[in-house]
Amino acid sequence: MTDHPRHPKKHRARVLLSSVFGPYAQDDSYGSRRINPMELYHNQVTRYQGAFSLRMFHRSFGLMLIQSNIDAPCTLLDFPSLDRFIEELRKNRYDVVGISGIIPNIGKVVKMCALVRAHLPNAAIVIGGHVTNKENIHRLVDADHIVKGEGVAWFRRYLGRDPRAPVRHPMTYSGFGSRVMGMTLKDKPGDTAAILIPSVGCPVGCNFCSTSALFGGKGHFIDFYKTGDALFEIMCGIEERLKVNAFFIIDENFLLHRKRALRLLELMQINGKSWSLYLFSSARVLQSYTMEQLIGLGVSWIWMGLEGKQSQYAKLKKVDPHALVRRLQSHGIRVLGSSILGLEDHRPEEMPRIIEEAVSYGTDFHQFMLYTPNAGTPLYAQHKAAGSLLDESEFSPADAHGQYRFNYRHPHIPAGMEEQFLQQAFERDLAVNGPSIVRLVRTQLTGWLKYRRHPDRRIRRRFQQEAKSLGTTYAGAIWAIRRRYDQDSPMAGKMDALLKDLYNAFGLKARLCAPVAGRFLTITMGREERRLANGWTYEPKTHYEKTPAAMAMESTNVQTLKPIASKTANNTCKARAA
Ligand code: SF4
Repeated sequence: MTDHPRHPKKHRARVLLSSVFGPYAQDDSYGSRRINPMELYHNQVTRYQGAFSLRMFHRSFGLMLIQSNIDAPCTLLDFPSLDRFIEELRKNRYDVVGISGIIPNIGKVVKMCALVRAHLPNAAIVIGGHVTNKENIHRLVDADHIVKGEGVAWFRRYLGRDPRAPVRHPMTYSGFGSRVMGMTLKDKPGDTAAILIPSVGCPVGCNFCSTSALFGGKGHFIDFYKTGDALFEIMCGIEERLKVNAFFIIDENFLLHRKRALRLLELMQINGKSWSLYLFSSARVLQSYTMEQLIGLGVSWIWMGLEGKQSQYAKLKKVDPHALVRRLQSHGIRVLGSSILGLEDHRPEEMPRIIEEAVSYGTDFHQFMLYTPNAGTPLYAQHKAAGSLLDESEFSPADAHGQYRFNYRHPHIPAGMEEQFLQQAFERDLAVNGPSIVRLVRTQLTGWLKYRRHPDRRIRRRFQQEAKSLGTTYAGAIWAIRRRYDQDSPMAGKMDALLKDLYNAFGLKARLCAPVAGRFLTITMGREERRLANGWTYEPKTHYEKTPAAMAMESTNVQTLKPIASKTANNTCKARAA
């Protein structure tokens, strides 16, 4: 690749990587939107669940992966404010500034590039992430390099290193700032899953899928760890370093790589690993595994597309998704179903039936998103060819995040009506299935009852680990939530039955803990409800991390900002793929 750009300072170049600036959950001229907060669950899954909503942030894993795999002095600034970003530029002489964002953040990326030019005129600007798929991005942002797709190999080449060197995995937890029922949970080792990134992209290539499109689309993906052996070694390293026994796998369709998954299962069995895996999977792939294999792999939480029986998507062909969801839950596997509203054939008069069908899955969580053509996807190309995309003068890219309105003229749904359908879907799901935390406890209890006496100690131990709070904190949560449903007899009946089952399963401990923890949670929930009524929003804290090379360089300069040693540094040898 002789035409690949190279930085003249190679691996001695000082690099700053930054996500776009916040605050995020507010309406502003840079593209932040109150209804599009930096919280995955509250943004698009539990947003209508009030104080029951699961609130949590996730780091910018792509930037962390790049930082872990370049040996140039590198600083990562995640979730800065605008002032904090400016301060970083003013106080340091970076040679390269990398900025990552999604398309609705284009206004922020434009602003950040202008700031880099003003404060560090000699720095090269590199733009990555989904925003790179935006049409005419070269003309919109003043950047030197627009990098589509995988960034590790690109940066390594750019800095004069071998792009094919083994990938070092970042050592980090999957989420931070978790909050539910007015309680911010402590990010304690052992309680939070670690992040695991085996591959990126998905070869299934659904027409709307931005992630698949970003990494090459249909038929393409990039493996960071090709074999079960390599993955197992990485997981052992993460387990030891972060003291975790659960992994949140950031891989669009982890089980699709069957040979790797089954070898991982074999190694987990040989080495007695009772890990829990949280993963994304398409229904058809999931169905190709036996329940013994899924349980053996520790699959305990699945995010799965449920686009509807009549949808065109191959991932649902020859699958009875209702039966599949019920079967998974009956084995203690929590399911997050994802449904799309506004597919080509959806008509206003059919939306109540479509919503009812989605709600009837009774998943533990349910995501609803609008069918949205994002630049780079086949769906976008199709709308562009048809001339049905809305011009940006009519519809801001900041609003095309899938939780508000269509960015195109829908063939059947009049503009503006989709917003009501989204709201109806979330509200109906809550009304019929109750708060997600209640469903989750039900599924977990079902799994524990089924497997607590399993002959394989490895399996038993995993279910015991996962059930450790069922008879205490979770029993208290159900006790508190039950009191909110005094006026809703069907839901109150379901919660009474769940509480009774928890008391039967965990005995006196649960009977004593439930009212004590429940009264406390009633108070925290009440406070949360008042905060929400007063317009409170939740923002991630800023993370600032330097590699050892950056810290070494720092020690020779005046530095007023205290660096935080990166958890991603030095993740070598044991955690490296063979
Ligand atoms: S199966 Fe899921 S991850 Fe794969 S392309 Fe389709 S939507 Fe994307």
